[in-house]
Amino acid sequence: MTKLKTISNKTCRMCESKKFAKVIDIGRHPLVNSLVSKKDLKFKDPTFPIKVWQCIECKLVQLKDIVDANEIYKNVDYLYFSSDMPGLDKYFKPYADDLKKRFLKQNDFVVEIGCNDGIMLNFFKDKYRTLGIDPATNVVLRALRKGITAVPLFFSSRLAEQILNEWGPAKLIYGNNCIAHLDNLKDLTKGVSKLLSKDGVFVVECNYWGGMVENTNYSLIYHDHFSYFSAQVWVKFAKKYKLNVFDAIVTPAQGGSLRIFLSKNKRKPSKRLKILLDNENKTRLNSTYMSTIYRKNVLNTSIELKKLVLYLIKKNKVIAGYGAAAKGMTILKCSNIGNKLKYFVDDSPAKQGLYSPVDHVPIISRRDSLKDQPDYFIILAPNYSDVIIQKEKSYIKKGGKFIIPKNGITVYPN
Ligand SMILES: [Zn+2]
Repeated sequence: MTKLKTISNKTCRMCESKKFAKVIDIGRHPLVNSLVSKKDLKFKDPTFPIKVWQCIECKLVQLKDIVDANEIYKNVDYLYFSSDMPGLDKYFKPYADDLKKRFLKQNDFVVEIGCNDGIMLNFFKDKYRTLGIDPATNVVLRALRKGITAVPLFFSSRLAEQILNEWGPAKLIYGNNCIAHLDNLKDLTKGVSKLLSKDGVFVVECNYWGGMVENTNYSLIYHDHFSYFSAQVWVKFAKKYKLNVFDAIVTPAQGGSLRIFLSKNKRKPSKRLKILLDNENKTRLNSTYMSTIYRKNVLNTSIELKKLVLYLIKKNKVIAGYGAAAKGMTILKCSNIGNKLKYFVDDSPAKQGLYSPVDHVPIISRRDSLKDQPDYFIILAPNYSDVIIQKEKSYIKKGGKFIIPKNGITVYPN
């Protein structure tokens, strides 16, 4: 494996302040999306420290020490294909319909940043001019195969200029779950501002710090998530680039995501935006007090999970992981129990036959696991726990149980 480069940022990604308060240190973790192939099992997988900080000035929660994103996306195969995730297309369809209805007319130019395999752009491609941008070559190849125009590049202000010259200004630019992966948010926003038409709209769906605090969700903390956002932070940041936040909602995606709407022209702020901002104020979301509570809750939850797993192992119970998702790897590593699992099951064919980083636990299909079922499955994509339990009625009937690390630790059926 090539040596991975790390970057240490001294200043805040949004406001350039040098003053930070520590939120949580979760120790050294491997790169969660780089699963290991059989031939590479003899190598030691690299690990990197993860410390989360909050900027004292603008309040953005962020990692300062990061692994070069180019390595994450370009030099290793990025194993996350949106279309492999259960129910995601059902989530994107009404989202795309809402954007079309509110902001677009036929033949308008639509750009998606971080388009992955084109799962959402697919809903736009027939009526509008569309362009997808994603740094991971292997996922872009899949988008191209579906007939979606896409380029395997990082979005930057330089690229925005090139797109503007070739295609003209964009009426809608949007990005889902990709803004957190970008180190240079200033250059991104500069590029968006350049490429957007005067009456254009920029929509971002990103992780929500408010949801993470409220639900003690730490599964989102990993190396390719550089920032954790709130609505307040966006309002302040957008102003610097002459963009105006006019609407926002919290959606159920990823266990609570923030969808935020920005425009170049002045638009009346929506009622739901006002309510959200008020709520962040009232709950003191961006205070050090809240980040201290968050830290305590995360530590308690990971200790509780560790105790439960060690207790079950002592009673000779077999435990497996349900979903070899990036999120779950953080949960396992925080409790140091990754090597206690017999195997992972995962529906994504791209992951089957590979091994988890560091612990080298095999990933198999759910079908292959049927001949050797575990006593317990830990659900490692906790936001899909309802879907999984619904699907696994026959496993439950045979006495199988689930451990769900969501809002603390629950065992189902109890
Ligand atoms: Zn800042």
